[in-house]
Amino acid sequence: MKVTQNPYSPGDTIRMTEKTTQSPGNRLGMVRLVACILLLPIVTAVDVDVDVVVIGAGFAGAAAAHRLVQRGLSIHLIEATASAGGRTRNFDLASHAFDTSTDSVVEVGGTFVAPGHTELIALAKETGHPIYNVSGQRSIRWGGRATLKQQRRYAATAPAGVWPWWYWGVDTRGKLRSSVMYTAHAGRSLFQTPADIRTLFSNATWATLEAAGDELAALTDTIDCQEDAPSSVDSSSASAWFDRDLSSFEGWIAAQASPGLPEEARSMLRNMCRGMIAQEPSQVSLLSILKSLKGCWSSGAEDQYRVRGGTQAIPLTLTARLAAPSSPNSTVTFHSPVRLIDVNAAAGVVTITHGVSSKQVTARWAIVTGSPAAVAQLSWSPPLEPVPMQLLQRMPMGTSMKYFVQYDSPWWRSANLSGAVMVAGFANRSVPREWGNHFDQCMEHSPFDGTVGEGEGEGEGEGHHYALMCWVEGETNLHFISLNKTTQRERVLTFLEKAYADPRARTLAKGVVAFNWASEP
Ligand SMILES: Cc1cc2nc3c(=O)[nH]c(=O)nc-3n(C[C@H](O)[C@H](O)[C@H](O)COP(=O)(O)OP(=O)(O)OC[C@H]3O[C@@H](n4cnc5c(N)ncnc54)[C@H](O)[C@@H]3O)c2cc1C
Repeated sequence: MKVTQNPYSPGDTIRMTEKTTQSPGNRLGMVRLVACILLLPIVTAVDVDVDVVVIGAGFAGAAAAHRLVQRGLSIHLIEATASAGGRTRNFDLASHAFDTSTDSVVEVGGTFVAPGHTELIALAKETGHPIYNVSGQRSIRWGGRATLKQQRRYAATAPAGVWPWWYWGVDTRGKLRSSVMYTAHAGRSLFQTPADIRTLFSNATWATLEAAGDELAALTDTIDCQEDAPSSVDSSSASAWFDRDLSSFEGWIAAQASPGLPEEARSMLRNMCRGMIAQEPSQVSLLSILKSLKGCWSSGAEDQYRVRGGTQAIPLTLTARLAAPSSPNSTVTFHSPVRLIDVNAAAGVVTITHGVSSKQVTARWAIVTGSPAAVAQLSWSPPLEPVPMQLLQRMPMGTSMKYFVQYDSPWWRSANLSGAVMVAGFANRSVPREWGNHFDQCMEHSPFDGTVGEGEGEGEGEGHHYALMCWVEGETNLHFISLNKTTQRERVLTFLEKAYADPRARTLAKGVVAFNWASEP
């Protein structure tokens, strides 16, 4: 036996067998390994006993723990990684440090806040990290993703001022700068208003997309956001609901092929899906898209606000408060993945085993947060019911990467460009292959100190920070993350240089930053 440092909690040690794979002849090693496993529950004492144990210190876990403590319950929050935040993560362009909160951070994960995110907005206020408006306008009527129904209504009354229903880009009109659009039909064009976009597409594409929008708007009428499944509906409605749940959005797009959906329109519908939920249309049900278009998960313009200090600032502050000695009813453990959730329903006790030294927490209740894949990886005793387990195993994670290029000056503004680039209509994804062929959308994504937003000035000057960011989504991201870092950087810079038709995209680039979410728990 040798004593090995536990990689998760540096202060802890654990005894491990020298070999984890044993040949039949190495029976002593096998016995030792079995003994270690069998002894774990016996030698491990309960470390903490609380009302509620919360697993995961992302937004959901940190917020739940905070609210429970406010209501007088004792909690223990357990996080697998070194920091709170989960799929929200800040990167400081000034210090190049992750997991910090300053006016020069960019968010490599969750970023934008919709007016409908009322719980998050309340937490932002309570933690002293106010939201700020990053839209060009005071309130976006249609920032790309208001509910489809609202958008269709606006379109009927003010067609020239409303973005097309399938538009997944940013609203840039407030600052009167142009954005770049690549389409198979018109090539590289600049646009500023919805009316400009109309001129970039063929009549056939436009008419087909309008008809598709009408059909989807009619379908969203049948959706009840409160229901996970139809309960009190007649059998024909129930059957339609299940049909939509079983059909993929790609299936729906394919069905629009009759009498013939132009390839350009097809590609815009696919990009809209990737832009909305970072997933390939073949991986998402039609029902899911309808719920999203109806605004069941967040109504209003999804990209209207950001959080000053970066979105991760909120869970960072909440967990710091929960861990503080001044909060006697709460404790927090980092670096300690939960492995086993043991529910003793008769005794009303749940026992959580976490970390490689198998610490244990007992509680009356457990709140389990995280991605479906992370939750499915936990060991449950008794095992989860088959249906929820099957569901967890069949909910694919979105594959989305934000690739940032940092600059010392917002050179695109002087070229009267907003920084936004949209690509649509190419059958083989995006732009010609030699450009990189990985990006459907890029935008300015400067930190607070460099942001052009309402009331924030132009954010320009000494010591301010600027960034352009390209989304890499869906299947394309699976390929992109397999490339080495030099190739990734080269592809992004080539794309930006061509898209802006400006060599400064490459020559002024100060650095790049991206975070691969596929490797997270
Ligand atoms: C690139 C990207 C961009 C996004 N953009 C937006 C956006 O603009 N607006 C928006 O609203 N949303 C956005 N999202 C989504 C948003 O970030 C997430 O929905 C949200 O952060 C999820 O929070 P959560 O607490 O539910 O889960 P998570 O953030 O995943 O938190 C779960 C936590 O549990 C921990 N954990 C996992 N397994 C264990 C274990 N066994 N034991 C202990 N701890 C464990 C994880 O380490 C993590 O800290 C984006 C996501 C990504 C990746």
